[in-house]
Amino acid sequence: MRFITKGYLTTTLATPAGLLFFRLATGCRAMRTGSGHRTFPACGQILSAPRPGVRRALPRLPGMHSVFPGGSLPDRAPAAGTRDPVVEVHGLVKRYGDRAAVDGLDLVVRAGTVTAVLGPNGAGKTTTVETCEGYRRADSGTVRVLGLDPVADAARLRPRIGVMLQSGGVYSGARAEEMLRHMARLHARPLDVDALMERLGLGDCGRTAYRRLSGGQQQRLALALAVVGRPELVFLDEPTAGLDPQARRSTWELLRELRADGVTAVLTTHFMDEAEELADDVVIIDAGRVIAHGSPEELCRGGAENTLRFTGRPGLDLGSLLKALPDGTAAAELSPGAYRISGSVDPQLLATVASWCAQHGVMADGISVERHTLEDVFLELTGKELRS
Ligand code: ATP
Repeated sequence: MRFITKGYLTTTLATPAGLLFFRLATGCRAMRTGSGHRTFPACGQILSAPRPGVRRALPRLPGMHSVFPGGSLPDRAPAAGTRDPVVEVHGLVKRYGDRAAVDGLDLVVRAGTVTAVLGPNGAGKTTTVETCEGYRRADSGTVRVLGLDPVADAARLRPRIGVMLQSGGVYSGARAEEMLRHMARLHARPLDVDALMERLGLGDCGRTAYRRLSGGQQQRLALALAVVGRPELVFLDEPTAGLDPQARRSTWELLRELRADGVTAVLTTHFMDEAEELADDVVIIDAGRVIAHGSPEELCRGGAENTLRFTGRPGLDLGSLLKALPDGTAAAELSPGAYRISGSVDPQLLATVASWCAQHGVMADGISVERHTLEDVFLELTGKELRS
């Protein structure tokens, strides 16, 4: 049987009846669809002050094997620039009593991308995601997932999506491997279970009952269950919460492979570095509304001041330097020979400063740009106070 309470899904497999219910509940039947493609406009709207940042490339971990031995699925991976929206939420409102957990929220997720939904505790992330999964009903607004209504079309939608809830979702007595193999058998083209277990570090605990797994192992099993059926779209609610650094990296690597395979992923996370590493699009929610969205670069770049520092000979003519720089840029000599340029620091500004130094015979040394991260942007937008 399946119970859903505040988004927690428990599936009981202890009895044949329970198993039947589980099959019905997951609705896992063979379904594959092609997708018509059309151009989707790039999003990048910041409703509050952002700052620049840099995305780091994470090397592939040594010794890792792909869980997609056949490579990506060409029928599913959309070409760049031809990405349909697969999740469309408009004006979503969800109330609990007098309180609006979600208050007129708009969200669009493009096919084949990773979208990270960020927000302080209680911002409405889980409510939004679980409404898209069909586990909560919207009070108003429209929600379309793969073109379907998540509640009315649940039977058609569920075979095509993978869901990792914030916690729960697995019968406590089921063994990890049994559960995963069972789930794999319900799908037409499941991932290789052994490879998936190896990838997620579950190889040694396959015979352990779910309730006896560590928190991190439970988390990894929940992720494996969400992706084993090769869904077109996965919703992952805080997929790396409680994972050790190795498991976190393995999870990231797996998510990259899913994306390369054409799978669309929507994840909620409190880890800003995770969003920077993985997400094509970031949506920041506060008090049930979207307060900013865009790529990590767009969010980190737009508008806010950054700082460039360098050292040179003392007493440079900063008035002359400022004439070469865009309006709104400030320059100061903090201590003899130590300079700070503040403003919208971009590659052009860096080149102008270097060129001015060259023209004036200044050997600029120790040039550094102070990066602002997604965490800076997040805190700037949502404040630094704890939420009740
Ligand atoms: P977190 O980061 O802590 O997981 P969240 O952004 O996912 O938070 P939600 O779980 O969506 O936030 O909750 C949004 C608001 O709705 C919170 O104030 C929460 O207390 C409230 N809420 C969520 N589910 C219910 C429910 N079933 N009944 C009453 N209130 C609820």
